[in-house]
Amino acid sequence: MFPGSADSHPNFRWQSQPILFGQMAQKPLRLLACGDVEGKFDILFNRVQAIQKKSGNFDLLLCVGNFFGSTPDAEWEEYKTGIKKAPIQTYVLGANNQETVKYFQDADGCELAENITYLGRKGIFTGSSGLQIVYLSGTESLNEPVPGYSFSPKDVSSLRTMLCTTSQFKGVDILLTSPWPKYVGNFGNSSGEVDTKKCGSALVSSLATGLKPRYHFAALEKTYYERLPYRNHIVLQENAQHVTRFIALANVGNPEKKKYLYAFSIVPMKLMDAAELVKQPPDVTENPYRKSGQEASIGKQILAPVEESACQFFFDLNEKQGRKRSSTGRDSKSSPHPKLPRKPPQPPGPCWFCLASPEVEKHLVVNIGTHCYLALAKGGLSDDHVLILPIGHYQSVVELSAEVVEEVEKYKATLRRFFKSRGKRCVVFERNYKSHHLQLQVIPVPVSCCATDDIKDAFITQAQEQQIELLEIPEHSDIKQIAQPGAAYFYVELDTGEKLFHRIKKNFPLQFGREVLASEAILNVPDKSDWRQCQISKEDEETLARRFRKDFEPYDFTLDD
Ligand SMILES: [Zn+2]
Repeated sequence: MFPGSADSHPNFRWQSQPILFGQMAQKPLRLLACGDVEGKFDILFNRVQAIQKKSGNFDLLLCVGNFFGSTPDAEWEEYKTGIKKAPIQTYVLGANNQETVKYFQDADGCELAENITYLGRKGIFTGSSGLQIVYLSGTESLNEPVPGYSFSPKDVSSLRTMLCTTSQFKGVDILLTSPWPKYVGNFGNSSGEVDTKKCGSALVSSLATGLKPRYHFAALEKTYYERLPYRNHIVLQENAQHVTRFIALANVGNPEKKKYLYAFSIVPMKLMDAAELVKQPPDVTENPYRKSGQEASIGKQILAPVEESACQFFFDLNEKQGRKRSSTGRDSKSSPHPKLPRKPPQPPGPCWFCLASPEVEKHLVVNIGTHCYLALAKGGLSDDHVLILPIGHYQSVVELSAEVVEEVEKYKATLRRFFKSRGKRCVVFERNYKSHHLQLQVIPVPVSCCATDDIKDAFITQAQEQQIELLEIPEHSDIKQIAQPGAAYFYVELDTGEKLFHRIKKNFPLQFGREVLASEAILNVPDKSDWRQCQISKEDEETLARRFRKDFEPYDFTLDD
């Protein structure tokens, strides 16, 4: 029996009071999910009331699909004006058609009536219980301009980028969308009259692939379908992960009495024992969005929009500062409780390099990919000294997931070609010591300055002078295999792919890499060995960044399909 009533026990009171689920954290939350309401509020809420009377109170009601009907109705007025009240805290998705857009005034979400809250166009909602709910309102639109009742590839990729690019990301508890994901029927039990190869949204499939929700609810097809749970990992290739249960719900009060209300209890995944979380039910199936257990076919399909949108993100950063925050839901200015955890996973403190963080010097950003971005180094050794940085918060390359590593390598290879065309070779180094957010320093050295071997010799000689032991690592070998997770290290990578590696035990000169490159043996700019002496005005930085972006454009793979 769940303690207390809806009124007395701590509830998900969005914005109106702090969420106080903490003290009952281990107890499962009891939730209800509902399909298209289409204005049949009385039927729905009477039903909920009857269920609560019989089997105790639930914590939340989540509504997907069309909450409002297309015809104006008097029933809603009663809820809106407070004559009637929803018997449970209810969260709803936004419009799926032009007729109902008018009900959802604030794209960032708002209260529609007492106890009934519109979540917003897209974002993540986290209670202090730790339960994470990602929501995406509307139907898919691939054409610009995107109507007010639709989401675009950009919306989906920004959600994915925001949530999935940190090394700690494992998945979310619940995903709410109105359309079904395309292909969800693959490898599963029959989805009845709904042909999932034809209907549904491929963008939603892509979102589900990335987010790995434990529960995914959808509606709009006027039928009930509970798919067998599917796995999120590739058997024998990846560690076991939790499964996803996809549940589509019918419309409220349908004459065929198809299921439109689904009750379940859930412990937030962040509070669960890892072994418990990844337990595989006996009826688990292959992932419907993957082709025969290989690379996700859907993932491939939407790669282009992902990259396109990352560019958009870049422009947003430049032109409308702070835009990004509000796209995840409400931002702090509109919330009386700015601490409400509605943000993507974040670093423990302020970070200068997390792309979403307000501390980032956005004018130095010169290119943005899906997982990584490029920025000019502040006080660089040269005008084209750049950094490769992960968008999410990673401390070192050792922590990067495979897809982020892949993009880091892509940036490295592209920069090599770019600089080669300009008569320079690339030297890359990383210092994972007293650093907070991974920075790969990429310094172009004019071919006329010296040969690769001279660069190598300079590093070895100057290391010896400072009693730093540099190990030569063969080309193509992985730092991950050499460095222990959490261990401090420095390495430099030459344009041949050779690496020199140092395991830092204590007291490593922070400026070592820079000092060697600035020395007479290489760039011969000894006065530049300290970046603080190389600072230039913001205006000049902007000019350099603009120039770099333009020069780099022919090499910009984020513009490719
Ligand atoms: Zn960071």
